[in-house]
Amino acid sequence: MERRRVGILGATGMVGQRFIQLLSQHPWFEIAWIAASDRSAGKRYDEACRWKLETPLPPSVASMTLSPNVPEGTPASELPRIIFAALDSAIAHELEPKFAAAGCAVISNSSAFRMTSDVPLVVPEVNAGHLALIEQQAWRKASTGYIVTNPNCCAIGLVLALAPLEATFGIEKLFVSTLQAVSGAGYPGVASLDILGNVIPFIQNEEEKLQEEVGKLLGTLADTQDHVSPAALTLSAHCNRVAVLDGHTECVSIKLRQPATREQILEAWAGFHPLRGIHEGQPLPSAPDQPVEYEDAIDRPQPRLDLMRGRGMSTTVGRLRPCTLFDWKFTLLSHNTIRGAAGAALLNAEMLALLGKLDWKTSSSIPSPRTL
Ligand code: NAP
Repeated sequence: MERRRVGILGATGMVGQRFIQLLSQHPWFEIAWIAASDRSAGKRYDEACRWKLETPLPPSVASMTLSPNVPEGTPASELPRIIFAALDSAIAHELEPKFAAAGCAVISNSSAFRMTSDVPLVVPEVNAGHLALIEQQAWRKASTGYIVTNPNCCAIGLVLALAPLEATFGIEKLFVSTLQAVSGAGYPGVASLDILGNVIPFIQNEEEKLQEEVGKLLGTLADTQDHVSPAALTLSAHCNRVAVLDGHTECVSIKLRQPATREQILEAWAGFHPLRGIHEGQPLPSAPDQPVEYEDAIDRPQPRLDLMRGRGMSTTVGRLRPCTLFDWKFTLLSHNTIRGAAGAALLNAEMLALLGKLDWKTSSSIPSPRTL
């Protein structure tokens, strides 16, 4: 199968580097265009980027030149129609619509448009049907371009654990306290003098994002297919930065609408694999076979031991036990730059490909994603 050409906006940052790492091995997509700030435009990638990942920078990307960060900076025939965006929210707000208006599918990591009513906020295992919202976007109607977003890095790991519980028992309310890795703050991120030997009980806008995004993710697409009604649950979040390199841990207390035993909850997680076999009998390339893995050992999950389950795409849950305030409590762990960012966007792109939404010639004949 011919691989589709893709571009990366914000290619030099923490999430941009994960995109390069994951895309360099990808069976469906190939990196054809990269861009970052004006400071980096015109430079070779290996001159502009301080590579921070544990695998070597792929030589084919190292020698690529960073393009200007606007669509008109590249000849239209060379601009890929699929753009993965890993930009700070204020910059995304300015740049992403330009690419959508130029006819690109913008698959974004930033919070800029996550809560916009006609922009899908998607985790494919949870709410792939919400992708139908793209058909309402003015960019889609004018130029065929559109914006799709993935959630905040804590919301993704959390919602994977919540979705089977919401579907089986209903969720009334939950309390979440996070322990978030330093890579979640980008590069150079939090100063070492602030974080080493320390915990910082504040991350700008993080609690608000987590509280509102979970409602949209577990919400219901309106029959008019132009907005999502949020799920009727209440979430209170405490977000903390800790001296861990990668991996966000979350301590969750939950009140369900219907009583559930420990065995029923474990069964709901074990039986949750909605994308298994969805593509020619196989999962999508980035989809973990088991999105929620339960780890029975009393002192798990731990970032150093459990981070790479499902190639960094699974949420690991452990310590399920009764809660004295609500019904149940548990701890979960999710990789913040793989499942929480670049891997999430890749999985969204794979789902869009499966639905024909990356195939501009045939997109009108594709069945509605509501059937998923
Ligand atoms: P980062 O490490 O600070 O990288 C920022 C990137 O944006 C760099 O490539 C930078 O390029 C580029 N940039 C800066 N100004 C620009 C401009 N005016 N035009 C175009 N590009 C510009 O940040 P990050 O951690 O990768 O985060 C990127 C986005 O993903 C943010 O919205 C963040 O909230 C979100 N996110 C991050 C995580 C995570 O775990 N890190 C998880 C989920 C979502 P230069 O090198 O040229 O400055």
